[in-house]
Amino acid sequence: ATSAAVNGGGSISSIIPGWFSEISPMWPGEAHSLKVEKILFQGKSDYQDVMVFQSATYGKVLVLDGVIQLTERDECAYQEMITHLPLCSISNPKKVLVIGGGDGGVLREVARHSSVEHIDICEIDKMVVDVSKEYFPDVAIGYEDPRVTLHIGDGVAFLKAAQVGSYDAVIVDSSDPIGPAQELFEKPFFESVAKALRPGGVMCTQAESIWLHMDIIEGIVANCHQIFKGSVNYAWTTVPTYPSGVIGFMLCSTEGPEVDFKNPINQIDAKGNKNSSRVPLKFYNREIHAAAFCLPSFAKKLIESK
Ligand code: SAM
Repeated sequence: ATSAAVNGGGSISSIIPGWFSEISPMWPGEAHSLKVEKILFQGKSDYQDVMVFQSATYGKVLVLDGVIQLTERDECAYQEMITHLPLCSISNPKKVLVIGGGDGGVLREVARHSSVEHIDICEIDKMVVDVSKEYFPDVAIGYEDPRVTLHIGDGVAFLKAAQVGSYDAVIVDSSDPIGPAQELFEKPFFESVAKALRPGGVMCTQAESIWLHMDIIEGIVANCHQIFKGSVNYAWTTVPTYPSGVIGFMLCSTEGPEVDFKNPINQIDAKGNKNSSRVPLKFYNREIHAAAFCLPSFAKKLIESK
């Protein structure tokens, strides 16, 4: 927790002992804060600082290197959208790869699709997996699905070694491009994703905020246009505890059967998975799927110019 006192112009006093403030060079000059009830875990893995705290209003919170990864209250918005935007855009996805996503939330969502036969996940940091299983059972429930195989390792190396054309979908649930996730935003990584996908296969990757990171987004879009010869689209959603309150997704398909991301063709089979009754779908629906691709004019102009 950061403690700062600002006194000026009379008695304005923003003092934050007992609050977690998310301060990062990725969003200079602003910091979203949550009131902390109790710190539940603090550790240092080989890759990053890992913390879990109980917040006053957002449930438990997972923080990596000082950046909020998820809260119990709003994780549904992120996990459901990053998963169902790609998986509802193709028919009968069977083999899915998740890169990052150690908390298990994306696995929980992939498991709702009854056509899926096999789910690989490659997370670099075992501590994230262990901590999520202990403190976020409704998120880590994703690991209980028998179709899941966990690989602890670097997603970049995993994809380089992946069999060509073997996945229907690759979902990249990464942290920000400072730290272990940096390479997950670079061109060679996207090239290996495209290679690992079957013709007409889809990728969905976490693609930052239109309010804060248009430069990063423009770079990703330009690279993806060069690499993915099918569709290339940007979508976004609201997640209150992410910086600026929104997060985007890059959705691409490889050359092959055409993918129209804006018009979902696949329904989620709510009964397809025994965990669905414990953690029901909360955010995603067909309307919000289509709406996610509507961009404000400033972002539309820059993204479409690439
Ligand atoms: N699912 C989350 C949510 O609800 O918002 C967010 C992010 S998730 C916890 C991001 C994960 O990507 C982290 O666990 C991090 O360790 C992992 N990661 C970062 N770089 C990686 C890499 N090169 N290979 C595999 N996993 C990586």
